[in-house]
Amino acid sequence: MKRDIQKLVNNKYDVLVLGAGIHGASIASSCAQSGLRTALIEKKDFGHATSANSLKIIHGGLRYLQHLNIKRMRDSIASRKLMMKQAPHCVRPLSCLIPNHGKGLHSNFLMRIALSANDLVGYDRNADIPDSHKLERGKVICRSKLQKLFPTIVKAQTTGASIWHDVLAVNSERLTFSFVEEAEKQGAVVANYLEVMQILSPSKENKSIRVRDSLTGDLFSIRTKSVVNACGPWGELLPGVPSASAPTSWAKAVNIVVKRELFPGYAVGLTGEPQFSDDDSVLKKKGRFFFFVPWRGYTMIGTTYKPYRFSPDNVRADAADVDEMIALVMEIYPEAQLTRDDVSFAHAGLVPMVKAISGDESEVQLTKESLIIDHGLGKDKTTGVYTIKGVKYTTAPKVASELTDKICSLLQCTEKSAKTNKSGSCHTPQTNLEAGLIPVAFSYLEQRYGTSAVQVLPYVEKSDRLLSEVPLFRAGEVIYMVEEEMACTLSDIVFRRCGLATAECPPVAVLNEIAVVMGKLLHWNADQQDTEVKKVLAFFAAWQ
Ligand SMILES: Cc1cc2nc3c(=O)[nH]c(=O)nc-3n(C[C@H](O)[C@H](O)[C@H](O)COP(=O)(O)OP(=O)(O)OC[C@H]3O[C@@H](n4cnc5c(N)ncnc54)[C@H](O)[C@@H]3O)c2cc1C
Repeated sequence: MKRDIQKLVNNKYDVLVLGAGIHGASIASSCAQSGLRTALIEKKDFGHATSANSLKIIHGGLRYLQHLNIKRMRDSIASRKLMMKQAPHCVRPLSCLIPNHGKGLHSNFLMRIALSANDLVGYDRNADIPDSHKLERGKVICRSKLQKLFPTIVKAQTTGASIWHDVLAVNSERLTFSFVEEAEKQGAVVANYLEVMQILSPSKENKSIRVRDSLTGDLFSIRTKSVVNACGPWGELLPGVPSASAPTSWAKAVNIVVKRELFPGYAVGLTGEPQFSDDDSVLKKKGRFFFFVPWRGYTMIGTTYKPYRFSPDNVRADAADVDEMIALVMEIYPEAQLTRDDVSFAHAGLVPMVKAISGDESEVQLTKESLIIDHGLGKDKTTGVYTIKGVKYTTAPKVASELTDKICSLLQCTEKSAKTNKSGSCHTPQTNLEAGLIPVAFSYLEQRYGTSAVQVLPYVEKSDRLLSEVPLFRAGEVIYMVEEEMACTLSDIVFRRCGLATAECPPVAVLNEIAVVMGKLLHWNADQQDTEVKKVLAFFAAWQ
């Protein structure tokens, strides 16, 4: 995958996708698979924004059962399946558990019915899925079994627990990237570090997008018949996007990552005690609900949501967010005995919200459904311009599929059926010939790159020096990431290509070592290498 600006300028596209979070990436992949001439551009690195800041749960939508929203459940299940097929190396089944209590909605009896209904709605959840990734049926376990499993969460009122199975994106950054790769494999032209400055729509069939190359400062235009604005919280700020009648409100969502596995093998959902909203209040606020998700020996905990009214460029977790999270975890599960020293990472991103539902704005009502805005239908009648408001990482492939159908019908494509592969081909890792060369390293490469491991192998063989302190990580991989995966900065490598900095700050010596390898390829002098290392360290300093 090469960053080819000339190709972007020289061609005219059926669809140009702006923004490569999970929505933009899956839309580009779906459009390219449908035979549309597709381009995807991103102002920073692929998947660097909200999509790199999730709790990594690819939901089947059990909780939508409460509202009998079967369509939303089916959409979630279909998207989850597509992700499992497309990038099995980035995901794995996740057992989820919540304690049951009382005689109402959370009783053993009603939860048993809910879990059966969940299995029924997801009857085809395992169709064409590799055996290693098949999801078991849900079940209710009794109090004494829960006592053996996790004694610290059994309270006086606990009657048992509900267990169901979702999917964990073990490597959500590479999962997003797998959609970018798939788009490119299907013929799309993709490039990072290209910022959209303006959308010009002089006619139905001709649109011109002014773009700035952030690496060189060059300005140029890309021609296209249709445009998809998948810029998330930045979407409404793009010059040339028809203004929405009601601008979106955004909530800042925060998770923390702690260095201990609190509940090995299970994502456990716990609810805190209901609180009175103030001293005179007779109404109780609902207890806060957090998931504790096991991930690579760490636990991700979240999520808090608060209204956010500033520039999306400034969203990051700060020390106050981390302190607040620790205090809330200690209310919900004091046995965790969390302190600042336990926290190794913090996620923060913006999600669309409907309104704040408490005076102190500590609770918000989130937008439930993703939205495809067709600006051709509004007052502006800008045909062929679409804005996506995505609410979940999970459902991005479903949104992509719906939007592809709209664009195909707008452009009256004929080729669509020829290339369509919406169910996603199953990308089973290859373990035959190549495994003979350097077996241990190859299975490790497959875990990171899936089927692309075969392409990485020659780089690793040519430059097989191990980077100190990082098991199995070789200089050749860094070279591959720069030359074939468009990694342009040290942050691109450590946050989004190799995952070295996605759980905690890597040792400075390792960062320096990678910066030296990159520097040789990208002609960085010693100062530039140093600046790259400092940028990674600054990320962690923001909340430590
Ligand atoms: C803390 C947290 C936890 C979450 N947990 C979960 C979960 O467990 N499961 C789940 O399903 N969902 C979860 N979500 C929701 C999910 O992460 C988001 O819905 C999803 O990532 C949004 O993706 P997106 O592509 O719409 O936006 P983004 O990922 O923000 O992508 C938008 C992209 O547009 C680019 N862009 C902006 N302006 C321009 C421009 N001018 N030119 C070019 N590019 C531009 C940006 O750089 C960015 O990369 C969570 C969210 C948060 C914040």
